[in-house]
Amino acid sequence: MTTIVQKINPEKFRDEELTSACKLLRQGEIVAFPTETVYGLGGNALVPEAAENIYAAKGRPSDNPLIVHIADREALYDIAEYVSEKAEALAKAYWPGPLTMIFRKKSKIPLSTTGGLQTVAVRMPSHPVARALIRLSDIYIAAPSANISGRPSPTKAEHVVEDLSGRIAMILDGGQVGIGIESTIVDMTEPVPMILRPGYVTKKMLEQVIGEVQTDPAILASEPAKHIVAKAPGMKYRHYAPRGQMYIVEGEQGKVVEVINHLAALREKEGQRAAVIASEETKNAYYCEHVYGIGSRKIEGSIAAGLYDILREMDKIGAAYIYAESFSDDRLGQAIMNRMLKAAGYQKIQAEGVRMR
Ligand code: AMP
Ligand code: MG
Repeated sequence: MTTIVQKINPEKFRDEELTSACKLLRQGEIVAFPTETVYGLGGNALVPEAAENIYAAKGRPSDNPLIVHIADREALYDIAEYVSEKAEALAKAYWPGPLTMIFRKKSKIPLSTTGGLQTVAVRMPSHPVARALIRLSDIYIAAPSANISGRPSPTKAEHVVEDLSGRIAMILDGGQVGIGIESTIVDMTEPVPMILRPGYVTKKMLEQVIGEVQTDPAILASEPAKHIVAKAPGMKYRHYAPRGQMYIVEGEQGKVVEVINHLAALREKEGQRAAVIASEETKNAYYCEHVYGIGSRKIEGSIAAGLYDILREMDKIGAAYIYAESFSDDRLGQAIMNRMLKAAGYQKIQAEGVRMR
């Protein structure tokens, strides 16, 4: 299949520019599109074959449910069996935006869209192209992230091209996305709503609106404990992972720099390619050939926005060993560290404990 790549300026486009994409979606085809979080791989949420095509394109296990994207709040009542007052309050506060909520599903939502679950994940994105696409195609768009399963999520159309060219009908290229990590997922079917995946909308932001919110223990675990099963099926898979061995180095900043320099030099001496992922503040303190400044510690959003692009870059340069500084796990930092730890397969190094000769 030839994949059409169509550029579109999110700040200024005409509805007609989305005509082909809408037509393809209505025919049951798959179209990748930009959202404010990452690029999505969209299909008609009410057509079982569309979900099957999405799974096939991604190479995703079909027990991993898709998020249903809507363009207006009323659509929620057409999809969810029951919408609590708390859910309404959250929708009012954070929709359109990077928040996904889980509800019991109505029977019109096919089980292939929900990975066999009786619940459905719903989000109303704020990205102008995503919103126009849902509105003009007049369907609900089921979409996971537009990457091959296990690869970092795409934050630029080029990433989607790398992974899915030839496997889907169309890619709408709206440039780099704003947030760069996936939406916060909150399960609203629990008596106390539960965060299943941390994202841009933090626990504190949720609690400001609805009071107590709990977090799935699987997210808080610093390593994947076998007895804790993540409630979001997608969280159990190895994700975001570069091909090389990645380590998160923790500790006092000066010591972290020293240890990373030491380890990277050892690898280079062995003839192995080493790479460093650092903050803008510290990146100049490394001697290693491949040093990537991910963003400023003062602007968490810049770290989130740069993360996946850098993880993909690791594969492009063929990094065999990747040493990453650790970031604060406050607020948005929790989502960032959650993704970084998964990318690293939870491998951590305590800088204080490393002996250097
Ligand atoms: P992605 O679209 O790639 O960001 O992945 C969607 C995420 O939402 C995956 O981690 C899914 O497991 C999760 N998800 C979607 N629907 C549900 C649901 N009904 N219950 C729990 N998690 C869900
Ligand atoms: Mg994904």
